[in-house]
Amino acid sequence: PSTPDRLHILLLSFPAFGHIIPMLEFAKKLSQHHAVTFGVSAGKLPDLTRRELLHPTEDPVRLLGIPDNVWDDFDNPEDSDAILRIFLGVNAAVENLLTAVPLRHDPGRTSSAVPHNSGRASSDVPHDSGRPSSTVPHDPGRPSSAVRQPVDVIILDLFLGGPVGVCRSRSVPFYFFNAANAMFFQHLLLLNEGTPTVSIEEADAFIELPEPGGQLQAFTVNMKTLFLPVRNNLGLAKGIIINTLRELEPDLLRDLHANPPMPVMRVWCVGPLFPEETSTTTENSVPEWLNRQSDGSVVYVSFGSVATPTGEQIRNIGLALLESKRPFLWSLRAKFHSFLPDELRHRTNDGGSFLVTEWAPQKLVLKSPAVGVFLSHCGWNSTLEAVAGGKAMIAWPMFADQLLNAQWAVRLGVAVLIPKTGMKAPRVVPVDEITAAIMEVGGVWSGSQRAGTVYQTSVLACSEKVHAAWGPSGKTAAEFEDLLSSFR
Ligand code: UDP
Repeated sequence: PSTPDRLHILLLSFPAFGHIIPMLEFAKKLSQHHAVTFGVSAGKLPDLTRRELLHPTEDPVRLLGIPDNVWDDFDNPEDSDAILRIFLGVNAAVENLLTAVPLRHDPGRTSSAVPHNSGRASSDVPHDSGRPSSTVPHDPGRPSSAVRQPVDVIILDLFLGGPVGVCRSRSVPFYFFNAANAMFFQHLLLLNEGTPTVSIEEADAFIELPEPGGQLQAFTVNMKTLFLPVRNNLGLAKGIIINTLRELEPDLLRDLHANPPMPVMRVWCVGPLFPEETSTTTENSVPEWLNRQSDGSVVYVSFGSVATPTGEQIRNIGLALLESKRPFLWSLRAKFHSFLPDELRHRTNDGGSFLVTEWAPQKLVLKSPAVGVFLSHCGWNSTLEAVAGGKAMIAWPMFADQLLNAQWAVRLGVAVLIPKTGMKAPRVVPVDEITAAIMEVGGVWSGSQRAGTVYQTSVLACSEKVHAAWGPSGKTAAEFEDLLSSFR
């Protein structure tokens, strides 16, 4: 059958915001060229609109809710049993969906039961732009029935390795999307049956990337269970799409090209992928507060959407922030507010020297000249956003690839790592250490602007590369074009 000019691409995301945000951004870019459906746990769909991640009138991305019933908001992301359950549940739900989703070139069907739009531009096809699929009439037990337009290409989150067998047996071309960086991917490639495992408490063994040709020191038990099958099936995909910039991880990516892990594996770097945030797209009071602060003064604190700092960690951060005498902005989910030190809680949101907010417009915050220091858990999105915004970091990773991202930022010269004693539990950083890190990254603060620290100078140089990436002669823009041509 002939292939239409506009293909239908189905992207399937793991239901954590660190995955959803970049993958949805990627979906928006694809939707400028092809019809695009973005599938994620049904329970996550309302948040996409609430957090203004998709503007139904502007972004022609169709949403598809996957009823996996396993998302419980990672109440404790370090609970390895819960993580395993979530992973397996989401993988099974996606596999189920893909078993029945209509394909344009389906070797299993001689005459298609679904309307076949071959040769017809997808803009002719009824398209529920930006509307959650829950508003589209379909059998809720069979989400595949909500995908009415036959699919040409599938893009699977790297955490969704389970459905690979279905993609293969149905002969549909598929790609993996890695929301983390190339360093994480490199780790995955080094994984093999013989890799030793450690418990999550000993997960600092995961932080060191071995020299080229070296072996992984260890992987956590979960990571090995989940990722070994993905690692072994990577070669079945048409390639891997990574949310990174070639210029920021040149050695790793050069190595991947020189020694491709699988004969057919191709790598496209399409980072950075994050939504543009402007003061007109947020009704938050944060931008207005930032405008009142002096340049380079503010410490911004965020541990992202999943990490769960302990009460003691929160108290120590609060005391160190007060000690630093700098204004600060803290994105802290409400359930943690009771841990704030009394000195701070009594003055919460005094609107002058600090703000504690449940959710900050982070991209905007990191662009603000008022921010001088970013205390971050080093989720990959936050790390890329910090570099894009030219903000030096205090890297305080909590688990999983955050440890690698922190190491990446330290190597780039844009961050200091805490705790200095390493990642072993309980990982409480003393107040003095946090205060010293604020000083090291932001410089001595005497109430007015001073020369930038080495970290701030380095991050500004990297920031220019990030800004050029999607520009007219940017490397990322060129790789994206190349990826588009690989779909045919
Ligand atoms: N984020 C935000 N406001 C907040 C906290 C986080 O907009 O108050 C965004 C942040 O900009 C980033 C994402 O949430 O895009 C978090 O992703 P990341 O990979 O950094 O961490 P995760 O939440 O997956 O641990």
